Amino acid sequence: MLWGRESLTVPTDLGTWSTPAWLTTDLLLLDLWREYQDTLCPGCGDPIASHAGKTYHDYSSAAFVCPAQIALDKAQTQQAKRDGHKDAKTNPERARTWVMGPRQFISDYTAAMKKLLTKEG
Ligand SMILES: [Zn+2]
Repeated sequence: MLWGRESLTVPTDLGTWSTPAWLTTDLLLLDLWREYQDTLCPGCGDPIASHAGKTYHDYSSAAFVCPAQIALDKAQTQQAKRDGHKDAKTNPERARTWVMGPRQFISDYTAAMKKLLTKEG
């Protein structure tokens, strides 16, 4: 959106550009969106104000390992070896997704994931 705002152009159809179709309300909405984005922590995306008075002790993290991504990692490593990259190795980080947040959130998240991964979940 910002590219269109800077040039005041908008795509009208494939390959054709027109000027200017930005309404005052469009620009106002973009300004508000930008102002809102400026209130978010660039690290975690939560409102910066939510970090007020907190340290890393107030937060936790957990990792989820996707078995389907493990299979993909293994297949890609085997293919790399067939392609001549004899030193290719699997990388467990490819299948691991980290989440972070307040300790209670991570505790609840971990419990919910365990429940979903059981047959009863
Ligand atoms: Zn943050």
